[in-house]
Amino acid sequence: MVAVVKHGASKQQVEGLIAWFHARGLKTHLSEGEFQTIIGLIGDTTNVDIDLLESLEIVESVKRITEPFKGVNRKFHPDDTVVNIGGLKIGGGSFHIIAGPCSVESSEQISSIAKSVKASGATLLRGGAFKPRTSPYDFQGLRADGIDLLLEAKSMTGLPVVTEIMSATHLPLFENVDVIQVGARNMQNFELLKELGHINKPILLKRGFMNTLTELLMSAEYIMAEGNPNIILCERGIRTFETYTRNTLDLSAVPVLRELTHLPIIIDPSHAIGVSRFVKPMALAAVASGADGLIIEVHNDPPNALCDGAQSLTPEQFADIADRVLRIREVVVSL
Ligand code: PEP
Ligand code: MN
Repeated sequence: MVAVVKHGASKQQVEGLIAWFHARGLKTHLSEGEFQTIIGLIGDTTNVDIDLLESLEIVESVKRITEPFKGVNRKFHPDDTVVNIGGLKIGGGSFHIIAGPCSVESSEQISSIAKSVKASGATLLRGGAFKPRTSPYDFQGLRADGIDLLLEAKSMTGLPVVTEIMSATHLPLFENVDVIQVGARNMQNFELLKELGHINKPILLKRGFMNTLTELLMSAEYIMAEGNPNIILCERGIRTFETYTRNTLDLSAVPVLRELTHLPIIIDPSHAIGVSRFVKPMALAAVASGADGLIIEVHNDPPNALCDGAQSLTPEQFADIADRVLRIREVVVSL
């Protein structure tokens, strides 16, 4: 349930109303937008007398929220959430490209990729240190050393870094990481999500390949319910019956999520399609769909990459795509 506060209500009146809800055992979520103040109610609202609530002087209207997700629901928070990454803002009208290798392999590899993607317009650097591989015999990532190398590339280029966490016990290693990624395979690792709710670092939450949009939003809700509102959603392809592509990019996620939630939405065309020559059209389609950004895999030597070489772009291919993506973005915002 949400209570829309009348325009011009004083801070004291709003606080009074919040206290009124708390006295009824409900948790509240205050959203103070430019044009509207909304108090979202979390908990069992079945005993709230809507007529009484609507009769209160400062209440404009009351709406029941039927969706199971509350804090991430746009009805709770009509304005877009803007995730601030050391001054760089994701959401609310900005557009960013995150680029880098699937996994950090060496100091030379990550620093050369970081420099080239920055020169082509990427504003954040990605690189996996802890890799969730289907086979235990495949390269598992450089782990703590990988994070150190990523941070070295960050200090060299100034690009904020994004890297995946697989276990909450590794959190101390992520202290200087700018954005913590939760990969598709961990989207429903609820204990991990709860731990990430206790920090306030931005979280890039990828959709599981077998998960619905409601499930994605419920996972975001886990993080938010524990106190961390800094969440970026990522559509990275879902598993379908199609075998030509690694996954199927569900671009319909963008308009649907845009309506359902205030969180920023980015697209990962690399994992979605899984074939480097198909990344470009999907990246262009993703920006045209209105996404807030892209995350793209780039490698200095794709044929010899230790992970996801088949979908990795060379720095030159990335430069070409980034240029076109940014031009399409200008058209999208001008429409
Ligand atoms: C990745 O970003 O390298 C990754 C493993 O992604 P996903 O969790 O989407 O498969
Ligand atoms: Mn990858």
